[in-house]
Amino acid sequence: MTAVADHQPAIFTEPEERADLRAQVRALAGRYGREWFAAKARAGEKTTELWQDMGRHGYLGVNLPEEYGGGGGGIGDLAAVCEELAAQGCPLLLMVVSPAICGSTIARFGTEEQKKRWLPGLANGTTTMAFAITEPDAGTNSHAISTTARRDGDEWVINGRKIYISGLDEADAVLIVARTEDARSGKLKPCLFIVPVDAPGFEFTPIEMEIVSPERQFTVFIDDVRLPADALIGDEDAGLIQLFAGLNPERIMAAAFATGLARYALDRAVAYAKERAVFGAPIGAHQAIAHPLAESHIEIEMARLMTQKAAALYDAGDDFGAGEAANMAKYAAGEACCKAADRAVQTHGGNGVTSEYGVGGLLVASRVTRIAPVSREMILNFISTHSLGLPKSY
Ligand SMILES: Cc1cc2nc3c(=O)[nH]c(=O)nc-3n(C[C@H](O)[C@H](O)[C@H](O)COP(=O)(O)OP(=O)(O)OC[C@H]3O[C@@H](n4cnc5c(N)ncnc54)[C@H](O)[C@@H]3O)c2cc1C
Repeated sequence: MTAVADHQPAIFTEPEERADLRAQVRALAGRYGREWFAAKARAGEKTTELWQDMGRHGYLGVNLPEEYGGGGGGIGDLAAVCEELAAQGCPLLLMVVSPAICGSTIARFGTEEQKKRWLPGLANGTTTMAFAITEPDAGTNSHAISTTARRDGDEWVINGRKIYISGLDEADAVLIVARTEDARSGKLKPCLFIVPVDAPGFEFTPIEMEIVSPERQFTVFIDDVRLPADALIGDEDAGLIQLFAGLNPERIMAAAFATGLARYALDRAVAYAKERAVFGAPIGAHQAIAHPLAESHIEIEMARLMTQKAAALYDAGDDFGAGEAANMAKYAAGEACCKAADRAVQTHGGNGVTSEYGVGGLLVASRVTRIAPVSREMILNFISTHSLGLPKSY
């Protein structure tokens, strides 16, 4: 009889196709490189060439169904793409939003017409869609959002405000979370609508941020925006389920983004620790430098493994299991990213804060991975309550 262990190792490695995909994305991103990417961001320019190149090669739509122009893979494949880009120092925040949250949601819950209308463009990068849930007053408490949609004949009329919405200046449309009134109970329930960014009554203004990134964040004012009936995604009565199903890809992608950025920070630190010599030896010879970097390597690998598990559960259709795993992956990745960025700066000494070396900027970027799209505190709340059965604190 063959020992069970003989069959086990494959479970802990990704399929060959995904390893190939990673290598291809690494090669493409390497042709652009961190210097190019950071120069664009600092000049307030976009990295559209990279986005379009990624789209042309089919990397932006690897998770979307083949019949609508995608690659027919899963969120695990898209997460691998996102991670490899970030690991080359070219993180594309809109990957978390456009093909992941918006693409997955439309592919799963959209009508045939909506899929035909939106998915091919999202897959090849010619269409970009933003995602808007956060509101100034509700903040983290997404159950308290007050953007509302009411029916008026054949149309929907939407009113409300959103904040920190990424990439609206690059997007064709935005997937908005609003609430409609339940005819029977009068209670408000969340629903998803696609709003073209040039719809009359839809206004947005940029927020000045401290992050050096080509993507910008915006405050949004939605004032009597009228939409056709088919702007609603999926079923009005199943909005909450659809919303939560869309949040798993978001968390998995945010985790991949963070582990990629963490890998980039660690690579930079390791390279510098090998090359910079004081006291007659490379600084990496000192355990005070080497051990924190070794810890980061371990933390990043653990976060990657958890991200792959969450993606595997989601791709297998286990939304519930994926929910816990995606939260854990996002938490682990955010923590690993913040520590790796901090250690990269420390390893560089004074050069850690020079523009020439460009690692100081990773501090703010890495902090975002602890805050968005769901904060570490809200993940700890989720795990305390749902995984451990502790009383809810709020
Ligand atoms: C760079 C960036 C890009 C973003 N892009 C988008 C986007 O494209 N679309 C979008 O919809 N949103 C986006 N966001 C918004 C982001 O998801 C929110 O900032 C995040 O969810 C936190 O919400 P808040 O900023 O309102 O914080 P608050 O809700 O004001 O929370 C502030 C702090 O209090 C903590 N806190 C709040 N309640 C509790 C509690 N019950 N227990 C413990 N701690 C608590 C939070 O964890 C946080 O640390 C983006 C944010 C950033 C920074």
